[in-house]
Amino acid sequence: MNKNKFLSYIILSLLVFNIIIPIPITHAASTDNILNTLAATTIADSNSSNTGGGGIFGQLFNLIFKKILGPVFNIFDGNNTKSPTTVPSGSSNDTTLKNKIIVVDPGHGGSNPGAVANNTRESDNNLAVALKLRDKLVQAGAKVIMTRDKDRTVAPEGSSLGEELAARVTMAEDNHADIFISIHSNENPDSNIKGAMAFYPAGKSSTLASEIEKALVKETGAIDKGTSSATFHVLRNTSMPSTLVEMGFVSNQEEAAQLNSDSYRSKIAQGIFNGTVAFFKN
Ligand SMILES: [Zn+2]
Repeated sequence: MNKNKFLSYIILSLLVFNIIIPIPITHAASTDNILNTLAATTIADSNSSNTGGGGIFGQLFNLIFKKILGPVFNIFDGNNTKSPTTVPSGSSNDTTLKNKIIVVDPGHGGSNPGAVANNTRESDNNLAVALKLRDKLVQAGAKVIMTRDKDRTVAPEGSSLGEELAARVTMAEDNHADIFISIHSNENPDSNIKGAMAFYPAGKSSTLASEIEKALVKETGAIDKGTSSATFHVLRNTSMPSTLVEMGFVSNQEEAAQLNSDSYRSKIAQGIFNGTVAFFKN
C-alpha cells in the first residue's frame, strides 16, 4: 500500500467515525459543530507538545480515538468519567429530616436559670445550644418548634414548676411532634464530675437518647456518661420518643468554660443533630 492510499483510508475513517457515527450518539451535534470540534482539536494538537507519538499518523490516531471518540464514549482516561457524588450525612441534600416535627426544649429560662456555677447559667447554655440545633434542623428540612427562643419561662411568669413543665409537654402534644428533645446542663456537689449523658423515659425506648448520646460524645469528645431511664415530667408525659440531654456539668470548671464557649456549643448542637438524623435513619 502506498502512502497516498493509506492516507486516503485514514481520511475516510476520519469521515466515518467523526461525521457519520457521532451524530446519532451526541444527538444535538450538527455537522458544523463536529467540523468546529475538528478544527479546534487540530489547532490544539499543533500547539501541544504532548500529542503522543509525533507524525501525521500519530496525530490522526490521537485525533480520532483520544480527542473525539474518547470523550464521546467516555473511554481512555479518567478525565471524562464522573465519580459518584456522595451526600454527607446531615447535609441539606439529606432528606431524612424533611417535614419531621421536632420540639426543641431549652430547659429553664426567665426567673428559673437552672444550675448556676463558675459564672455559667444553665438556662443560657441550654438556649444557645438549642438555637444552634434549631438552625441545623431547619436547614435539613425539619419543622422545628421551640418551647422558648429567648430567656423566659414557657408558662406565664409566676406559674408553678408543674405548670411550666406541662406547658412544654402541651406544645409537643398539640403539634403532634415526632420527637421531643429537652436540653439541659448538669451540676454535682463534686466538682470533679464531668461528662455528657442522655435520659429516656422509663419503660420506653432508649433509642433516641442513645443515638444522641453517641453522636454528641463523638462530636465533642466529652466523657460518655451513657444513657439512663428517668421519670422527669417532660419525659413521662410526652407520647412521642423523647430525651433529656445533660450536655455537661456547670459545676466542673473545665466543662463550665466549654459550655460558655460558642465553638463548643456548636459542637454539641452538631452532635445532637447527628444523633437525631441517626435516630430517623433507624
Ligand atoms: Zn436543667
